[in-house]
Amino acid sequence: MRIAENVYLLASGALGTGMTHPNDCNVYAVRCGHEFVLIDSGVGRETGCVLNNLAADAVGPGKVHSLLLTHAHLDHSGGVRQLRKALDLRVCASAGCAKALEAGDEGAISLDVAKRAGIYPQDFEFSSCPVDRVFADGEQFQVGDCEVEVVATPGHSHDMVSYLIRTPREAILFSGDTLFFGGKVLLSNVYDCNVQDYACSLRKLARQSFDALFPGHSLWVVRGAAAHLKTAIDALNRLLLPSNLI
Ligand SMILES: [Zn+2]
Repeated sequence: MRIAENVYLLASGALGTGMTHPNDCNVYAVRCGHEFVLIDSGVGRETGCVLNNLAADAVGPGKVHSLLLTHAHLDHSGGVRQLRKALDLRVCASAGCAKALEAGDEGAISLDVAKRAGIYPQDFEFSSCPVDRVFADGEQFQVGDCEVEVVATPGHSHDMVSYLIRTPREAILFSGDTLFFGGKVLLSNVYDCNVQDYACSLRKLARQSFDALFPGHSLWVVRGAAAHLKTAIDALNRLLLPSNLI
């Protein structure tokens, strides 16, 4: 489903539009001239729907070469192995995300505690998957007619990165679980969630320039994204935490 000039929504769960499995994050395809990149994979229980949605948007398999992961939490990475195989994708991630994904380490992504908390059914598994490229913070590369910049934004999790994609016409931030519509954040009671890191990451994003915001859950923003980030920064400046998404 095309939701902006260069962005298509392929999956979105209960915290978003409900178009696919309830545990899915927002999965995006981004048009970069003649080729596309995918942002995140969803939880992996309805990957067939993700592929069907891609086909419905007339994006042939040969047009998608890369999948950029924001972090390894299951709702973002659970479908990556299936998508890599189906579309012959290069999977790209931060070092921390790659380490967890290549090992299929459920403890590293807090899936063990999330199952005990009832967030995921007991039979959900974290399938290991090779990572084809590991990104460092600040790395920049070209995809089609777009420039992609990797911005490490730890806080929600230690392995979290955002992707700033500059098309010929605008700058778009894919913020994963770092920043949401309305300046909300997603702090949770897991071992690698860190408030001070989170605050530093939000301030780091505030030094970037972008027009549109496509987060890992909930609504997106096609214009005026800086105002949403400012809401979060204003809370930090009052020594408070921004509102939590859930
Ligand atoms: Zn997450």
